[in-house]
Amino acid sequence: MNFKKFPKEIVVASGNLGKIEEFKEIIPNVKFISMREAGFNGDPDETGATFKDNAYIKAKAVYSELKRPVIADDSGLCVDALGGAPGVYSARFSGGDFKDNRALLLKRMENISERSARFVCAVCYINEKGETLFGEGYTEGKILFEEIGSKGFGYDNLFYSFDLNKSFGEADEDEKNSVSHRYRALEDLFSKLQ
Ligand code: IMP
Repeated sequence: MNFKKFPKEIVVASGNLGKIEEFKEIIPNVKFISMREAGFNGDPDETGATFKDNAYIKAKAVYSELKRPVIADDSGLCVDALGGAPGVYSARFSGGDFKDNRALLLKRMENISERSARFVCAVCYINEKGETLFGEGYTEGKILFEEIGSKGFGYDNLFYSFDLNKSFGEADEDEKNSVSHRYRALEDLFSKLQ
């Protein structure tokens, strides 16, 4: 997809390098700059109840300071058997790093056979004039019983994608990006850009 309606440079309101790389791969004709490179040193509190709220909180905080086009995403893994958890708490699930989060997820899913789950993403884009647009996307799959593959980040190697028929941890970047929640949220956002 050719995202030509975006400006040449957009600040990404995130410190997660995995995400920033995915934005770059999905939209190669835009120069994505991390908020740190752009000179934003804050750390907005993700206190929202939904992915959309959190994406807005992050984008707004960075836009208010820099007054440049900004995009933020908030995303996470929603597991049906856990009532949608870890959801908006995906990054902070265990209080530790990605590895600790995966270990806790496997523990919570011990002896559970119903393993359906989806990655969900909300993106919030604020243009130079301060106009705000949202996009949302999700991708369906199930939680594996053990880690498979070493690619990607976060929960990727515990997520078996129904679109790809393999784990996100086994998928090449372009394969994941063709079905990912982040790609679909960007597509949704793009369809709303004038
Ligand atoms: P946040 O959007 O930065 O608050 O963090 C979302 C968290 O959800 C990440 O830290 C990951 O743990 C998880 N997550 C979101 N998207 C993905 C993905 O594409 N693959 C694996 N994990 C993800």
